[in-house]
Amino acid sequence: MRFLENRDVSLVTMHQKEQVIKPLLESELGCRLHVNTFDTDQFGTFTREVKRPHDQFETARKKVEKGIEQSSVKVGVASEGTFGFHPLSPIAWNTELVFLKDYEQGIEVYGYYEGFHTNFNHTIVQDYSSALQFAHQIGFPDHHVILRPDDEHSSILIKEVMNETLLQEAFTYCFNKSTNRQVFIETDMRAYANPTRMQNIAVATERLIEQANTLCPTCGTPGFRLVQKVPGRLCEYCHTPTKQTAKHLYACQACSCKQLIEIDAGVYASPAHCDFCNP
Ligand SMILES: [Zn+2]
Ligand SMILES: [Zn+2]
Repeated sequence: MRFLENRDVSLVTMHQKEQVIKPLLESELGCRLHVNTFDTDQFGTFTREVKRPHDQFETARKKVEKGIEQSSVKVGVASEGTFGFHPLSPIAWNTELVFLKDYEQGIEVYGYYEGFHTNFNHTIVQDYSSALQFAHQIGFPDHHVILRPDDEHSSILIKEVMNETLLQEAFTYCFNKSTNRQVFIETDMRAYANPTRMQNIAVATERLIEQANTLCPTCGTPGFRLVQKVPGRLCEYCHTPTKQTAKHLYACQACSCKQLIEIDAGVYASPAHCDFCNP
């Protein structure tokens, strides 16, 4: 029997994430998904900063909790994304988490997408043709944009810009409101306004399903998963343990079962990662 066979699941979303989450969860886990459209903006809207992974996880968990409080359903799912620039290079970066909790069985499962498959971007323009050029670069009109007068701090903003007529109107409006003759334009990262993001949410959902389908070898509870990456891969040159991951520790959330799995056995770490060879 599948993890959520014939169970009702409440999905908390304002931005039509059910488009990708519902078909995947229903076909793979056997549940019935119901959309709960309460205002998730109370958990914060997008900023131009990457939130810490812990914040992202707790936010998703709180969304699920809120959704469950408002319904008679005992299983909740929510997703939470962050955008920013990769810490080591100026590449736009997206992390998507899909988190599910079964309150009846006390089981949590989740999946992440992490990578640079995103159009996350913004710029400042002085004329309409530059606004249109930016829009085309980020995949407009399939991907929507948001405009503000002056800069990112303006409290005036125009959303739902999804065709050239609306883009022209939004640009003219913001340009006329601007105190310094410029307009801030950025990608709209809400799921329904951003098909690239929707694809990443689908990937995270698939990883959640994979985790749910991994059963504890001892007690059979779904969600047997990676809890720790253990360093110690040996240096290729001097055979000293390095900080590179050598093993993955898997654990059950219901019993004390743990498994240490060697990753890429026989593969050495580059001396570049070795404290002895490259201090
Ligand atoms: Zn070495
Ligand atoms: Zn177990």
